Amino acid sequence: MLDCAIIGGGPAGLTAGLYATRGGLKEVVMYEMGMPGGQITQSSEIENYPGVFREGLTGMELMEPWPAQCMHFGLKHEMKEVQRVRKTGKHFTVDLGSEQVEAKTVIVCTGSTPRRAGFKGEDEFFGRGVSTCATCDGFFYKDKEVAVLGGGDTALEEALYLANICSKVYVIHRRDSFRAAPPTVERAMKNEKIEFILNASIEEAFGDATGLQGIRIVFKDGREPLTLNVPGLFVFVGNNVNNKVLKQEDGSFLCKVNEQGEVIVDLKMHTSVPGLYAAGDIRIEAAKQVVCAAADGAVAGMQALNFVQELDA
Ligand SMILES: Cc1cc2nc3c(=O)[nH]c(=O)nc-3n(C[C@H](O)[C@H](O)[C@H](O)COP(=O)(O)OP(=O)(O)OC[C@H]3O[C@@H](n4cnc5c(N)ncnc54)[C@H](O)[C@@H]3O)c2cc1C
Repeated sequence: MLDCAIIGGGPAGLTAGLYATRGGLKEVVMYEMGMPGGQITQSSEIENYPGVFREGLTGMELMEPWPAQCMHFGLKHEMKEVQRVRKTGKHFTVDLGSEQVEAKTVIVCTGSTPRRAGFKGEDEFFGRGVSTCATCDGFFYKDKEVAVLGGGDTALEEALYLANICSKVYVIHRRDSFRAAPPTVERAMKNEKIEFILNASIEEAFGDATGLQGIRIVFKDGREPLTLNVPGLFVFVGNNVNNKVLKQEDGSFLCKVNEQGEVIVDLKMHTSVPGLYAAGDIRIEAAKQVVCAAADGAVAGMQALNFVQELDA
């Protein structure tokens, strides 16, 4: 029987494990289906994690020391994908497909994944020109023209990253104002390789068997549609939460979620089910930032510790 099962090994999961084990829980396993680190390892630049600041710091570099520190007090990592969490009597059952593990508490830290924009051809050319990861795929377009869709921090940061590699970066955004932080907007505006196409959306991505060849852009104000012959398109239009592990066989969720499927928690990361916590991008009102996910993980780890201590008393 585990004291605590943590699902997901991003900033939230790793920090939850650190706090739970350092606080005294003995049997704590973090199920992370990949390498620990989470989605920030896809980011080419992070400059808003306090205390760790240098120009050109990548998400991978930021996360590199986390696993060793977070596992120092006994947290174990198993590289397994969790299928489902169920409540079985007083405890939880973590379904790993080939085996079932019992746990006294569960912290769900499965994060979020980039959302698709939904234009024609997006799925067809995904992985063949359409991407959601500039650090992974940007280099394929060295000295070529590419497009970025989106107007938030991630879109503009990744556009700046691509501008270092590519000959030109078109940023297509549906509004004429940005959600991104003003310093990021200013840097992107000043970059000579970045051209903004505003009040615009992508109608279609087209290509052939070799991959993407271009996109067709339409404008809100009825201007003539525009065709850009770009072999690479990077889509940054938000995230969907990874709540699959909470879905039960009958289609209901193990705990309360909102309309977007985000887990409803209180300020102590308690879900509607005692002993079940959710931390990081998966929860309601998440700022979707590394520093916030780590903080949530710390709170959830401490709460799991209290819960087990009371259960065992
Ligand atoms: C390109 C990009 C740039 C970003 N830039 C910044 C930035 O500059 N500053 C900032 O603060 N934030 C940034 N973010 C956001 C930040 O990465 C997230 O807010 C943060 O990583 C959320 O942490 P998390 O632990 O909640 O989830 P994640 O980091 O999403 O980690 C969840 C983990 O759970 C694992 N998992 C999911 N389902 C299962 C399962 N069923 N079984 C086992 N494991 C599972 C996944 O493999 C993943 O590793 C960026 C994100 C991206 C993609």
